[in-house]
Amino acid sequence: MQLLRPESAEQAVQALGNGSKALAGGTDLVPLLRDGIVRADTLVHVSRVVPRGIDGMRIGAATTLAEIEASDAVPEALREACRQAASPQLRSMGTVGGNLLQATRCWYWRLQFPCYLHGGDRCHAKAGAHREHAVFGNDRCASAHPSDVAAALLALGATIRTTRRELPIADLYRLPTDDDRDVTTLAPDELLLELEVPQADTSVYLKAMDRRKWAFPLVGVAAARSGAEIRIALAGVAPIPWALPSIDALDDATPLPGTAYKVEIARALVRRAVAGIGGLTR
Ligand SMILES: Cc1cc2nc3c(=O)[nH]c(=O)nc-3n(C[C@H](O)[C@H](O)[C@H](O)COP(=O)(O)OP(=O)(O)OC[C@H]3O[C@@H](n4cnc5c(N)ncnc54)[C@H](O)[C@@H]3O)c2cc1C
Ligand code: SF4
Repeated sequence: MQLLRPESAEQAVQALGNGSKALAGGTDLVPLLRDGIVRADTLVHVSRVVPRGIDGMRIGAATTLAEIEASDAVPEALREACRQAASPQLRSMGTVGGNLLQATRCWYWRLQFPCYLHGGDRCHAKAGAHREHAVFGNDRCASAHPSDVAAALLALGATIRTTRRELPIADLYRLPTDDDRDVTTLAPDELLLELEVPQADTSVYLKAMDRRKWAFPLVGVAAARSGAEIRIALAGVAPIPWALPSIDALDDATPLPGTAYKVEIARALVRRAVAGIGGLTR
């Protein structure tokens, strides 16, 4: 395997695709490569070509979670989502771009069961152990998106600039289909460059975990208020970060036998989050 360190985004893009992968902090990708779950002939280190740092509403995709957590220019929901993600060591290596693109934690996928997301014809979690899995969007794959940060960015209405386009963060994600098992819309030779995160009047991020800290979200709830508008987004409940149009939309959840408890956690956290930003819960 070779490691490239391109000097420009153009060079990086040319080196991507055809069996190569972008490498940022490596906290997600390196273990996947080591375990043979992801294969790559070439790693393209993006540290010289993807912006790092915070400038007003703009956050470089190579900015670490630790840097975002420490910045008082960043809306509270995003700071708190970073603060509650992973461990301090991982937050000082892991970038926001890599966080948005991290792979599912579904143990069947990580143990390389030939499941739907790996291109197979069924979801092993649905018939098997699925306590940490999805309650929305789980028709084909019941994985639960692990990113706290993505839910916060979704509630805040962030947009993303890539080497090809600008898009609302919601459009970075898609549910897998028979034709395309990917859960993001990013092309193999496309890089995330920058996020633009509007300031909200107020915002919060609340997280339920199996441990008090350093665990992936069972349910994460981000809520942001700008004027009379309130936006809510959830982590850990669907194969992608999930926008919730209202508290009542939790009634539309389609939990598996082992994940119904997540709906009740989400109900409690959404009420608390909405009350916390001065919204009405009924
Ligand atoms: C033990 C553990 C616990 C964790 N707990 C949490 C948690 O509670 N909440 C949470 O939200 N996250 C959690 N994480 C995830 C962690 O935050 C991510 O691993 C980290 O942010 C990934 O960033 P990275 O820079 O290391 O990405 P990498 O590992 O380098 O890359 C990850 C993916 O993103 C792609 N990529 C990276 N940068 C770019 C770019 N600019 N353009 C295009 N593609 C790119 C890579 O090709 C790869 O596919 C945890 C991780 C671990 C290992
Ligand atoms: S939840 Fe998704 S990743 Fe996990 S076994 Fe089912 S199809 Fe595979």
